[in-house]
Amino acid sequence: YHTLRVILGDQLNAAHSWFQKRDQGILYLIAELHPEATYVTHHIQKLCAFFLSMERFSEALKDHGHQVCYLTLDDTQGQTLDEIILTLASQHKVQHIELQRPDEYRVFKQYQTLITQQSVPSVHMVDSEHFLLPFHEIPHYFQANHPVRMEHFYRRMRQRFNVLMAGEGQPEGGKWNFDSHNRNKLKEHDLGNIPAPLCFQHDVTHLLERIERHDIASLGTVEANLAWPVTSQDALNLLAFFCEHLLPNFGRFQDAMTHRSPHSWSLYHSRLSFALNSKLISPKHVIKAAITQYERNDAIDIAQIEGFVRQILGWREYMRGMYWINMPNYRQQNVLKAERDLPRYFWHGHTKMHCLASAIGQSLHYAYAHHIQRLMVTGNFCLLTGIQPDQVDEWYLGIYIDALEWVELPNTRGMSQFADGGWIASKPYAASGSYTQKMSDYCNNCHYNVKEKVSEKACPFNSLYWHFMIKHRSRIATNPRIGMIYGNWDKQSKEQKHAILARAEWCLDHIEAL
Ligand code: FAD
Repeated sequence: YHTLRVILGDQLNAAHSWFQKRDQGILYLIAELHPEATYVTHHIQKLCAFFLSMERFSEALKDHGHQVCYLTLDDTQGQTLDEIILTLASQHKVQHIELQRPDEYRVFKQYQTLITQQSVPSVHMVDSEHFLLPFHEIPHYFQANHPVRMEHFYRRMRQRFNVLMAGEGQPEGGKWNFDSHNRNKLKEHDLGNIPAPLCFQHDVTHLLERIERHDIASLGTVEANLAWPVTSQDALNLLAFFCEHLLPNFGRFQDAMTHRSPHSWSLYHSRLSFALNSKLISPKHVIKAAITQYERNDAIDIAQIEGFVRQILGWREYMRGMYWINMPNYRQQNVLKAERDLPRYFWHGHTKMHCLASAIGQSLHYAYAHHIQRLMVTGNFCLLTGIQPDQVDEWYLGIYIDALEWVELPNTRGMSQFADGGWIASKPYAASGSYTQKMSDYCNNCHYNVKEKVSEKACPFNSLYWHFMIKHRSRIATNPRIGMIYGNWDKQSKEQKHAILARAEWCLDHIEAL
């Protein structure tokens, strides 16, 4: 072989220009890596989904006549990625090593070391050909250590890529953002209409055996069959299912939560995040397919399609930009000086707070929770109680099927924990129990009472919310969107304020018992 090309587990992009031509002088390397499987404790479904997708990708490349070296955990034990690449390169006496730009800083650093080594064949890095915004343009849209608003970025992306535009720079439907149409709660009569999600049935017994044999720690549970997409065909099927059955209600119930449906965990969400983040499917294709369906189907209105496009063209590309412009500094941010340990129930879900028990339990069971569960249930709890952001990151990075640092970290540390002081969120996503009551039915079956603030039965979120708001008043009150809230606090009697803060202190002191 003259060239060794490395494909990482999240670079399974069959449409990449690398694969457009067959060349028997090129060897592709795909490797199950111990350091990648252990840098945090991953959900078992996440480990299986990545390894199985890699296996399938390797088989598909071979079927197309490419030369592939697939290394399992058995082959790569005790070796780092650099060592594996260099050993293979020297075994085959290749002249060139080619890499795709990694999405995560950790891997980028490893690649940099490889590139700067003198004694190796030429090392060259190419684009992963996945995102809409070219990597080198990130500095044109983002500024390090600085607030950049998603909405502004999103509008530029809509214009630039001509997505949902009505001409002359105007957005289709007359508005850029239909967020206010996206806040419906699921009512009793809606529950029976929620479609069963499309789940795949991939046998992962051989992977479970391998993961166990190598003593790789994991969390959560998995059935013998994995429900997640592991090939680009699976991803296309999942996308088609989404467009037909879920998109008509996507925006409407985007923020809703319920525990009363067998499909409470998936609702109208696409569950495409794993397929997108492993690059089995491209964001461009997802957006195009959804818009085509919107144009064909009168049951899909602008608020549904705009809500979906915003997630992918907006939030996803924005998070990547914020990550790269601020790394490695982002990982150190902790402006609220949050130092508390993550309660143990995050790892097993046994807490009397029904919202938290549901969101955590579901995450352990499916390696999945939707955006509002991540932001307004688990994330909000960590924010209000001041959990150390490294521990929050570690939990999110491990538990979710789609968790890769480039998208997990800005969402968790930035958007959810406000540890960056507002680079992403213009104000902290802090909420009392009334938010959960408004958007879900969790509170009806809870040990605690969402209407109460100070009694033993009072929903902990209610007092913790005020404790957080008062503790960080000097930082937050300057925000004009928040001033009014402090007005409500100041109006309360001294006794009531004291009782609320005392209840919050009790909750913090007994956090493991909540
Ligand atoms: P849908 O609701 O169907 O949305 C469609 C797609 O939009 C998603 O697949 C995703 O690619 C994209 N998207 C939506 N919201 C976001 C967002 N905030 N940032 C980036 N992309 C978005 N997403 C990840 O992919 N990996 C993570 O590790 C991750 N960690 C998160 C941590 C926290 C604290 C929060 C609040 C959000 C996180 N998200 C993460 C974003 C979001 O929750 C998931 O992308 C989404 O729940 C995935 O499910 P879905 O595919 O059904 O999404």
